Amino acid sequence: MTPEEFRKYGHAVVDWIADYRTRLEQLPVMAQTAPGDIKARLPATAPQQPEAFDSILADLDRIVLPGLSHWQHPRFFGYFPANAQPSSVLGDYVSTGLGIIGLAWQSSPALTEIEEVATGWLRQMVGLSDAWSGVIQDTASTSTLVALLCARERASHYSLARGGLQGEDRPLVVYASTHSHSSVDKAALLAGFGRENIRLVAHDEVFAMRADALDAAIRADLAAGRVPCAVVATTGTTTTTAIDPVAAIAQVARRHGIWLHVDAAMAGSAMILPECRAMWDGIEDADSIVLNPHKWLGAVFDCSVYYVRDAEHLVRVMSTNPSYLQSAADGRVNNYRDWGLPLGRRFRALKLWFMIREQGVAQLQERLRRDMANAKWLAGQVAATPGWRVLAPVTLQTVCVRHEPPGLGAEALDRHTQGWVDRLNRSGLTYLTPATIEGRWMVRVSIGASATEREHVEQVWQAMQREVLRDAQG
Ligand SMILES: *Cc1c(COP(=O)(O)O)cnc(C)c1O
Repeated sequence: MTPEEFRKYGHAVVDWIADYRTRLEQLPVMAQTAPGDIKARLPATAPQQPEAFDSILADLDRIVLPGLSHWQHPRFFGYFPANAQPSSVLGDYVSTGLGIIGLAWQSSPALTEIEEVATGWLRQMVGLSDAWSGVIQDTASTSTLVALLCARERASHYSLARGGLQGEDRPLVVYASTHSHSSVDKAALLAGFGRENIRLVAHDEVFAMRADALDAAIRADLAAGRVPCAVVATTGTTTTTAIDPVAAIAQVARRHGIWLHVDAAMAGSAMILPECRAMWDGIEDADSIVLNPHKWLGAVFDCSVYYVRDAEHLVRVMSTNPSYLQSAADGRVNNYRDWGLPLGRRFRALKLWFMIREQGVAQLQERLRRDMANAKWLAGQVAATPGWRVLAPVTLQTVCVRHEPPGLGAEALDRHTQGWVDRLNRSGLTYLTPATIEGRWMVRVSIGASATEREHVEQVWQAMQREVLRDAQG
């Protein structure tokens, strides 16, 4: 493709995406696709000869679009908001179009320095002190893995330089809450702690980790000759957006000298609102934090920011320094390859930098406040409607609900819940995520797509009430 052809088709692609965003509201929110449908419409082998670019684009409408669930749809209330502000999409295009790779500061200085600036701006936006340094990772899963690797090395006095975990006499233990994200469990397993050394700490009645239970678990491990290593606290759990008490957990962590990693993948966005910052009181006592601007805040996936207090420790654990990557500037600059797993890095900072500049902090704040008000409104409606229940405090933008018709046993109630949410999702009107809480099914309404206004929440609440009646009638 010549630069002139690229210009032509590039414009066509931008038009296609702008049209997509415009007509999104008319599309069914959840894909109505059966497994294998999409593959069956594609040839089994690659074309031998070049194809016209127009025909590739035509297949976007013909084949790809019907196989998508639309996360930017105004009635998308599934999983969590993963906003893709158009300005951040353009930043991502530029990154891709430049086709550069950051191996070291020298291999593209602006890539490193704009990442320092953008993560520094975000740090100030969420109210963190300048003791923190940030780096962009692909996902929170990676950030949490890096945190646990760093914790492991601190607790084992750099075992990696000796026999690794395999050379340790006593097992190292990681603590998290029963409501922490599955990525915490995965990171602990992949970092070599072993299933037997992951403790799931009990939660209180609002699904937040109990600091006293954490302290008791640590003491039991100490008494048994194990080495407490790290605790992961969550600001905004996945199921209910519960808020673990960071200050109390930090006290316990300090008392026992263990690493505190705070998983604020979801709720971190809300920390741009001063009125929300009490949710992570004590955050300055953590060792590491992850927050995902690629969720509610609006930088298009993938953009997860990992903050550490002790960047030197991070570099000591992650550093590789072969001669062909050394340069005269080393020592005066950040080489972000030493801040995480991959050597090569994309210019991800562009999408965050573009978005923050184009939106301004005030507009980002306004949107998040709108979403929280919509969630409060919905929770109020649900709580005031007979037969319906709100199952967890609405701390941010997620409302956990159940319709509980009188006289249904536990299993019949589960069938009722799964039945109505499945019918509603298949209708194309919305996308809600069913989940279990305390062993029973419920439905999460996760509000916060950029396009979602009050009217969309009202439409879905009306539809939910209609749908549950079908069971009663049928
Ligand atoms: C979304 C989420 C994650 C996982 O995020 P990825 O970036 O997809 O790895 C982890 N923890 C919490 C609390 C989350 O909300």
